[in-house]
Amino acid sequence: MKRLLALICAAAVAVCALCSCSKADTKSKRLSVVATIFPLYDWTKNITEGTDSVDLDLLLDSGADMHSFQPSARDIVKISSCDVFIYVGGESEKWVDEALKSRTNKDMVTINLMDELKDLLKEEELREGMQGDSDGEEDEHIWLSLKNAQKACEAIRDGLVSADGQNEKSYKANADSYIKRLSSLDSDYQSAVKSSKTKTLLFADRFPFRYMTEDYNLNYYAAFAGCSAESEASFKTIAFLSKKTDELGLSAVLKLESSDGRVAEAVVNNTKNKNQKILTLDSMQSVTADQIKDGLSYLGVMEKNLSVLGKAL
Ligand SMILES: [Zn+2]
Repeated sequence: MKRLLALICAAAVAVCALCSCSKADTKSKRLSVVATIFPLYDWTKNITEGTDSVDLDLLLDSGADMHSFQPSARDIVKISSCDVFIYVGGESEKWVDEALKSRTNKDMVTINLMDELKDLLKEEELREGMQGDSDGEEDEHIWLSLKNAQKACEAIRDGLVSADGQNEKSYKANADSYIKRLSSLDSDYQSAVKSSKTKTLLFADRFPFRYMTEDYNLNYYAAFAGCSAESEASFKTIAFLSKKTDELGLSAVLKLESSDGRVAEAVVNNTKNKNQKILTLDSMQSVTADQIKDGLSYLGVMEKNLSVLGKAL
């Protein structure tokens, strides 16, 4: 009997040892984080900086338009097994719900940024002179506001901490200093707008910058509401934008990074003086892995956008 008891004890000790061993394993395990689009990826990169136990993946890194993206089988595998999944949660990411159904990691932390920012969301609006129909969808281009970006970084920080408490200190310190940089650039935007003579932006293009114009009380005109699938501007639209450019005495017409600028050229050519500059604002909607390798950063793009804004206003 004594021997049996000893055996049982030994077995129990062995099992315990195994348990604690596997526990130690989970503790030292690498944290796999997947972000859908570039701004989210870059924020997370800054917040996890210096912690060498994080594997961060960007899903849309081929330059594909996020509005028509569909995940491949490989993407689905990547998503289903990651520890933290960060996404915008808007109209263009409707595929996410389906992808998350096949998750194999039941402890996955998911961060839906539009959920986190729900009190700050705006609907896409159809204003005078715009083509397309307003379907009352919430505008998903939340990252183009430096104020939203700060809130989003707080949500990402909290999600990371709940998935990986070991690195809590680094995540919090990194987030603090990154959020300060976002806030300081936000102040720069504020002063640039304050001292500008014009308070209206004219986009001869799609219009993903609603949150930015709201942040600084800028007025705007655009060819299309949000990122409407419509891409051919009618003559009526062009004529309206040209007339507005003349009326307001604008010195620049804006286009997006992905556009060929033909609508903008047509708008300029229909104004009285035909001498407005065509400037590009970068909405970071089709970033490639090569651009990231070359050092593209969210803050870098937003700084460049500020200097474009300075010329347009
Ligand atoms: Zn868009």
